[in-house]
Amino acid sequence: MRIHHLNCGTLCPNGARLVNGEGGLLETGRIVCHCLLIEGEQGLVLVDTGFGVQDTRKPRQLGAAFALMRPRAEIGETALKQIEALGFGAGDVRQIVTTHLDPDHSGGLPDFPLAEVHVFARELDAAMNPGWRDRPRYRRVHWQHNPHWIRHEVEGDEWFGFEGVRILPDLGTEVLMVPLIGHTLGHTGIAIKTGDGWTLHCGDAYFHHDEVATPPSCPPGLRFFQNLNNADRNQRLANQDRLRELVARHGEDVRLICSHDPHELDLAQAAAADTAAA
Ligand SMILES: [Zn+2]
Repeated sequence: MRIHHLNCGTLCPNGARLVNGEGGLLETGRIVCHCLLIEGEQGLVLVDTGFGVQDTRKPRQLGAAFALMRPRAEIGETALKQIEALGFGAGDVRQIVTTHLDPDHSGGLPDFPLAEVHVFARELDAAMNPGWRDRPRYRRVHWQHNPHWIRHEVEGDEWFGFEGVRILPDLGTEVLMVPLIGHTLGHTGIAIKTGDGWTLHCGDAYFHHDEVATPPSCPPGLRFFQNLNNADRNQRLANQDRLRELVARHGEDVRLICSHDPHELDLAQAAAADTAAA
């Protein structure tokens, strides 16, 4: 099994220091969409899709919230184009696992119309029948092709003290959905057993690596954005507390990554390159 760390979309908001915690106030910030491509024994598994090909052609379909974040809209960054560059095709992606269904995580679904799409049941319900507050965030254009949804509920599996549900039993390694509610009503992390421990893809449960450090901190622009966009602030903050505790107790065994932190993406890509070269 091999895991590729892909950036499937870049956002370039103003105010680097406010979003990245470094750089000038007038410099452009860098926000990535960190997705995973797993080469398994029976095809490819994509964890989140980032933006899709049509999103790069028509960025307006992402909704007004994304205009502020200034997506780069670069077709070469889409999961599909990067998978093709690796010598595969769309049909090789048999499974997609989503942390949640915001457009920067599900925009690529139409590029893989044959894939099964694993989603936490509460997230699917929230996206298919959004309340007035959530209506602008979910974009129907990303599931107009009627994806083959696979709904998951938590069923008593346990992972480092978190409740979870085991998925993808044929992958050749362990994968669990670990609900981390807050950013959306059905937001979930994805835990993957790797050779030397676990990787927990935390999606948008946090945005900056220092949020899961002790003591925590977060650049003000990112804190503002998270408060603006969370479906349940109390649960989001409570889950960040639990993630911080997980790092403090089990940081040797579990590596956390989130979707939008460029520093984490750079480290993961460099580590993967070192492993490939060894
Ligand atoms: Zn996101």
